[in-house]
Amino acid sequence: MIIDGKALASDIEAEVRGRVERLGFNPGLATILVGDNPASQMYLRIKHAACERVGIRSENIVLPGDTDEGTLIKTIMELNCREDVHAILLQLPLPGHLDPRKAMMAIAPEKDADGFHPENMGALLLGAERLVPCTPRGIIYALERLGVKIEGAEAVIVGHSNVVGKPLAAMLLNRNATVQVCHVYTKDLKEHTRDAEILVVAAGVPGLIKADMVREGAYIFDVGINRVDGKTVGDVDFDAVKEKAAGITPVPGGVGPLTVAMLMSQTVMAAELSLERRRS
Ligand code: NAD
Repeated sequence: MIIDGKALASDIEAEVRGRVERLGFNPGLATILVGDNPASQMYLRIKHAACERVGIRSENIVLPGDTDEGTLIKTIMELNCREDVHAILLQLPLPGHLDPRKAMMAIAPEKDADGFHPENMGALLLGAERLVPCTPRGIIYALERLGVKIEGAEAVIVGHSNVVGKPLAAMLLNRNATVQVCHVYTKDLKEHTRDAEILVVAAGVPGLIKADMVREGAYIFDVGINRVDGKTVGDVDFDAVKEKAAGITPVPGGVGPLTVAMLMSQTVMAAELSLERRRS
């Protein structure tokens, strides 16, 4: 089965539109781009188009590539104070002279659309998920929609980034999977991936996962986005691996749309939480 990320994303968007209507106002998402990275510009266009579809008011703040840390933090602080901005997203990567961790920490935790703030990451680790990173949330949503039993499942994640691997490991543990996290220093990758009933690959290495590395009947989520010969491909050798998998996400059209849809959901969640705070 090919896991249709676009179809699942459109279901999430329909649900998000309903929540926006119930809120009675249009939540606001502010994105910040530092510099002019073309891939970042493209991702932001996709995110803003999704906002339009679900009724989120969005604005993009573009800062020059040589912006200093103080100016970036001040920009974030101003957005933290604005009542019409419910969620803030700092598009990564930042230019080399800026520390993404410092900038992420400046975002108010309750407006942290990507769930990268230590307070939200800490809550996630303690099993109190609130605003969490969007890609892992999208993968958990897909597993639940597909009816895959997470409890007791052997889950293997390839990639231990703060954006995907680490938060996903915590989310799978919160749901009682047995989790292995592999990375570039893992000695024998195949030894681990062959165990996986749920395999998530987020390495950014095209063709990393071959058919002999996956278990028959596994559910496979290919997070990788790579450009090869002018085409976008994932980290999994899709054509060979799909013959063995019970379900597999294509690239493009798999995890990407789920991630964007979850950003919409989290923005509305931030607005719902702000309403709750005002009422209490
Ligand atoms: P990253 O680029 O920060 O780190 C890569 C991870 O993969 C590290 O843990 C590294 O140790 C591991 N790795 C690299 N080579 C490996 C190898 N040969 N064997 C085993 N592990 C290896 O990670 P990231 O930011 O999570 O991005 C990973 C990929 O996912 C990139 O292609 C990125 O573009 C993509 N991505 C896609 C989405 C989406 O929405 N579809 C979201 C985030 C990231």
